[in-house]
Amino acid sequence: MSRLSMIGAGYVGLTTGACLAHLGHHVTLVDVDKQRVEGLKAGRMPILEEGLAEMVAEGVDAGRLSFSVDATASVADAEFVFLCVPTPRGADGSADLRFVRDAARQIGPHLRADAVVVTKSTVPVGSAAAVATALGRPDIAVVSNPEFLREGTAIYDCMHPDRIVIGGLDADAARRVAALYADLDAPVVITDPASSETIKYAANAFLAMKVSYINSIANLCQRVGADVTDVIEGMSYDRRIGGDHLTPGPGWGGSCFPKDTSALIRLAEDHGYDFALLREVVAANEEQFEHVAARAMAAAGGVVAGAKIAVWGLTFKAGTDDLRDSPAIAVIRRLRARGARVAAYDPTRPDADDPALAGLGLELCDDPYSACQDATCLVLLTEWPEFAGADLAKAASSMASPALIDGRNLFDPAAARDAGFTYEGIGRR
Ligand code: NAD
Repeated sequence: MSRLSMIGAGYVGLTTGACLAHLGHHVTLVDVDKQRVEGLKAGRMPILEEGLAEMVAEGVDAGRLSFSVDATASVADAEFVFLCVPTPRGADGSADLRFVRDAARQIGPHLRADAVVVTKSTVPVGSAAAVATALGRPDIAVVSNPEFLREGTAIYDCMHPDRIVIGGLDADAARRVAALYADLDAPVVITDPASSETIKYAANAFLAMKVSYINSIANLCQRVGADVTDVIEGMSYDRRIGGDHLTPGPGWGGSCFPKDTSALIRLAEDHGYDFALLREVVAANEEQFEHVAARAMAAAGGVVAGAKIAVWGLTFKAGTDDLRDSPAIAVIRRLRARGARVAAYDPTRPDADDPALAGLGLELCDDPYSACQDATCLVLLTEWPEFAGADLAKAASSMASPALIDGRNLFDPAAARDAGFTYEGIGRR
């Protein structure tokens, strides 16, 4: 079993670190955020992720998982150092590698001669070379090992990956990284860094395209009188298509798809290729935010200054507390721009001062029903199970006009109508 240091204890570093400790490795999780590290030492999880607290506790109790703010000390005896730091969207749309470079520069001088640096952050083609330069250690192998976990099911995904992708020019280093996952039952793709880095972006862009495609089909269903739920069922039995990510909604978002599609378009441009298909996918997604906002306004009776619209759900999907680039927030921004007051409830009860909510002028409610009080429309934007089980009659009875836009096709239309709502889903009859 190996000694690992994970730089960055966020959604990726923390969950993969805990899983690698579960597999028997000795893992130190490093983060610059002192509060986060202190919280972890005290057993407090900084993110909502099913099974994470138990997995972390198991690693700590076994003496295989520890936390630190000191990257240089942590990497000194590590055989593998995983970079799990953010790669946000830069001003020009490309991936901003600042955090990756800073981390590499910091650890470079302190690495063991036989250490392997593993890039788990999502980074564009050419980043393996950029990391090697920032490390300043020509003797150290850099290996790309992109992460495919989904927030909300991250622990499950880490333990049951569809595949493990490893890109390295040093075949021995790539094999050593593959060996870390030997106990997992998954195909391993070993390739060069450029292909490995491309696989991650190609996969995310494809999934975003799939969602946008079904959103477009749903919008068409609405016009031609078809029901998208049946259309999806009929499509998904086709093994060439599959049912995953055929989920109509208010548009895709989250901490990965928006920045990764943008970075891929930019990467293509930088290499003289106009990725027109992906540009259209991004444009279609923006239109979907607009489409849902416009339907909510229409259902609310048009633009009446100060009219209140209730929103259920703020996180970018159910099962996570992540608000980054949430489609719910994109829709709310459009409602606010049209003069609506918005009262929202989300089961994760986000802080009003969360940066993702800054400047929205949102009224945050403590329960779903107070959000509905006197509202002219209710818009469901995140598919939390709590909403599926909500008392719709209670919600409808307190509203000024009980209109429901079901932005995730979560509710049974007949049950919603029986509860007193006028009901509209996305592409449903
Ligand atoms: P995150 O924001 O949740 O966590 C990143 C952590 O890194 C933060 O806690 C931050 O304080 C820390 N950090 C920043 N610089 C540091 C440094 N120099 N030293 C130590 N810690 C540092 O980010 P995330 O969602 O875990 O994403 C990390 C990377 O993984 C990104 O490139 C992302 O695209 C990729 N990724 C994310 C997901 C996902 O679902 N979130 C899935 C696959 C891949």
